Formats: sequence, C-alpha cells, structure tokens
Amino acid sequence: MNEYILAVDQGTTSSRAILFDRRGNIVTKAQYPLTQHYPQPGWVEHDPMEILSTQLHALDEAFERSGLSPTDISAIGVTDQRETTILWDKATGKPVYNAIVWQCRRTADLCQKLVSDGLTDKIRSTTGLVVDPYFSATKIRWLLDQVPGLRARAERGEILFGNVDCWLIWNLTGGKAHVTDYSNASRTMLFDIDALRWDEELCRVLDIPMQMLPTPVPSSQVYGTLADGLGGRLNDLAGTPIAGAAGDQAAALFGQACFTPGMAKNTYGTGCFTLLNLGENSVRSRNGLVTSVAWSLDGKTTYALEGSAFNAGSAIQWLRDECGIVSTAHETDLLAETVDSTGGVYFVPAFTGLGAPWWDPAARGSFFGLTRGTNRAHLSRAVLESIAFEVQALVKTMNQDAGSSITQLRVDGGACVSDFMMQFQADLLDIPVNRPENVETTALGAAWLAGLATGVWSSLDELETIRQTQRTFLPDMQAPERERQIANWALAVDLSRRWGSRVMG
Ligand code: ADP
Repeated sequence: MNEYILAVDQGTTSSRAILFDRRGNIVTKAQYPLTQHYPQPGWVEHDPMEILSTQLHALDEAFERSGLSPTDISAIGVTDQRETTILWDKATGKPVYNAIVWQCRRTADLCQKLVSDGLTDKIRSTTGLVVDPYFSATKIRWLLDQVPGLRARAERGEILFGNVDCWLIWNLTGGKAHVTDYSNASRTMLFDIDALRWDEELCRVLDIPMQMLPTPVPSSQVYGTLADGLGGRLNDLAGTPIAGAAGDQAAALFGQACFTPGMAKNTYGTGCFTLLNLGENSVRSRNGLVTSVAWSLDGKTTYALEGSAFNAGSAIQWLRDECGIVSTAHETDLLAETVDSTGGVYFVPAFTGLGAPWWDPAARGSFFGLTRGTNRAHLSRAVLESIAFEVQALVKTMNQDAGSSITQLRVDGGACVSDFMMQFQADLLDIPVNRPENVETTALGAAWLAGLATGVWSSLDELETIRQTQRTFLPDMQAPERERQIANWALAVDLSRRWGSRVMG
C-alpha cells in the first residue's frame, strides 16, 4: 500500500512518466513526443501548453496501465529539461509566449553586453555559472523587452516566471504552488547558490521584477497536492502529494546514488553531461565548468560541478543519418570491435564548436590520420573513442578544480549501452566505469526525492541498496599507451580549433 511513486520526466524532445515501485523497479512508462519550433536560425521554442498536455497524458497513461489504485501512489516527483523559460499570466494561467528552450541562442548579444559590462566575475561568484544564453535570465529579459506591455504587467505582479519544473508544479497543484527547486533555480543565472535566494543585484542589472520569480525550495518536500479535474484517471489521483523536484542532471546524479563527495556520473546522450558531487563545498571552477546546487535534503545542501560536451551521441547519429556509414547506432559498436584500433585515425566531434574546458565556438568537426586503408570500421571506432576522449577531458578538469580525483565513473544515457566505448572510457580514465541495471536514472532520482519526503524510503543508505550494478568496466591499458592516445587526441583538438579560427573566422 502507498508504496509507488510516479515520476514526471519532462525532457527536450519528449514528456515521459514512469511509475516505480519501492524497490526502484519500473512498473509502467508512457511517453509523448514534443514538437520543436525553430522560428529563426539559432532559435528554439516549445509550446508550454503542449508540454503540459503531453505530460498530463503520459502521467494518466502510466497510472492507468499499472492497474494500481490511487491509494497505492505515495507521491509524484518532477524532473525537467533545465533553463527553458516560461512566462505566464497568473490569473488565467495562459503563457504569454512560447517557452524559450535552453538551446536557444537569441540572447547571445545580451550576454556579450553583460560580459563587456564586466559582470563575468559577479555572475560566477554568485550563481556559479558562466555568462551564456543557455541560462534563463537573459531569456526572461528578452521576453520582457519584446512582448508588448509585458514589463508593466510583470511589475504589477500579474506575470509569473518558471522553468519547466515550476510550470508543471504550478499547473499540477491548480495554481497553488509557485515554487522551483534549488537545482533548477541554480540554472537561471539569478540565484545565489550559497545564500539560496534570488540575487537582488542581478535582478536589478537585468531589470527583472522579483515578484515574478518563484519561491526557491529544497528538492524533497511536499510542495502541494494534485489538483482536481486534470482529466482521465488523474481525477482519481487528486490529493496525491507532489513531493520532489530536481533538474534532469541533478536528478540523474541522485538516481545514480552518487550521494557522497567525490562521486561522479556521466550521461551519454545527444551531448555528454558529467557531474561531480562536491558535498557542501560550492567550489567555483577556474576552467569553465559550472557549479550548481544538486539537491538539498534535511537542511543540508549538496553542490555539483558540471561539465558538458555539446556533441556526443549526436556524432553517432551523424554517422548513421548524414554519412550512411551505419544503419543503426548499435552497428557502430559492432563495427568498432571488428578492428584492433582506429589505424591512427582520430576524430573531434566539434560540429557546433567545443564546450568545457575549451569554450571555442569556432572549432569544427574533424578527422585526422586518414590513409587509403581507412574504412568505416576505423571511422566508427574513432567516433566512439572521441566521445570517451571528451569525457576524459571533462573528468581531468574536474579533478583539477576539485583538488581531488574521481575514483569511479557511473554512467547512463542512450549511448552507455556501447560496451566498446565504456571499456575505452575506463582505459582512458584509468578508473572503473560502472553501469547500473536501471539506466533511467533521471526519473529514478526524481522518484527517490519524492519518496523520501513521503516516507516510502527513509534514508540515502536505503536508496544505495536499491541501485544494482549491471556491469563494471575495469581499466586495462598501460600508462604509456594511454598517455600517447590522450596526447594525440589533444593535438587533434588543437588543430580543429586552429582550423576553426583561421577558416571560420
Ligand atoms: P537524449 O536524452 O539526449 O535525447 P539519449 O540518452 O536517448 O539522448 O541517447 C541517445 C543517443 O545514444 C543517440 O545520440 C544515439 O546515437 C546514442 N546511441 C543509442 N544506441 C547506441 C549504441 N548502441 N551505441 C552507441 N550509441 C548509441
């Protein structure tokens, strides 16, 4: 009784719901795709009403298919695509514009101005972030400037801002809770991650009325209950507590049971996201990584250092879709294993420039070392290896910033199924790479946060026993070979950047 948790997993390309039992097993799942809008080059939008309706359908379907009764559901937890910005009318609940998605670059000029106004250090020291259009603050400012009459309405307190977690919780509670969890707040570029409150100075500099901001809240507590009349079987679930929330990467770190300082995970999706648990020490990076709140439990705030690579699994998709070298992603693994090495070929997946630690928008994707004998197996292997090289660079930077060494990497995301890549990753990092049975770590993290608040689980120790390892990849490469390979790839990165700066300008 009362031992199941529904996780809301609202991602960039889909809205999903997953129902977990108290052993962390998936009972049912439902998923609806989300339409991507590209109104101009570099602009990305979602329809907030579609985010909401697809999410409600997914929740309804996951619950309906489980055959459980409403009293079996203890709580709902929420995880979301971070940074995506929604403004809506408090009285009607109607969005004033489409959601501006994290990928959207429309505020690049505004960010450039913040940098030239000398705000880089203030933003890093207060928010833990680098100045970038990725984060919510300049997206809010853009909307206030561009939507006629919006600023005056916001100043009168008629407009609310929220990231997707906040938008969903506000709607799920029938407009009762206007809250955002600290991990999402950390990605707005307005949040003081040490004081755990909105920063007045940054709001003033960006001319953002503070009354539109949600109340920042810890990651595991009852924020409100499911409203009546949301439709379908959700009507029967009215009154269920909404009891946990975290942004997707923080939720994945939690769902990987990386509970203690020094533990780290990498998600191999379209891009890669590496997060290191910093404990209560909110270290600022000297190398272009960002620091955010990961979660806050029982009054204790845990921080994470984060590094991301823009292109990872996308390079495999490119081999499949643009080059036609393979017909499925899995074929790259099979092909890679048919050869002993890349035959000296190296690849740099800099299709859209390079992220941390280089932050070089001009770099471009490149193959090096092609010979007349290079075939598609070598190319596939070089692409898979390039993803592991990127993660190796992120982990190395994290170790430098944190002043300690990560001793194990926990992995998830669509591309972590590649045994070849995971083994190469362990070889490059010279530490074990651990893949869990349940790779739905993001949704699981949200479920755990919610279930901790409603008593389904009582402690982190208990959660740790739920996580099962599927396979551990142990390092098996001699140091000279590892160093040679890393040095060769670093040279390839350097050359791809030089090419970019000369040719791309
Ligand atoms: P996202 O959440 O970013 O959409 P996913 O976590 O679903 O991404 O992962 C999808 C990525 O995983 C794709 O880019 C795909 O190329 C890659 N992928 C899927 N299967 C494999 C495989 N067998 N080997 C390597 N990569 C794979």
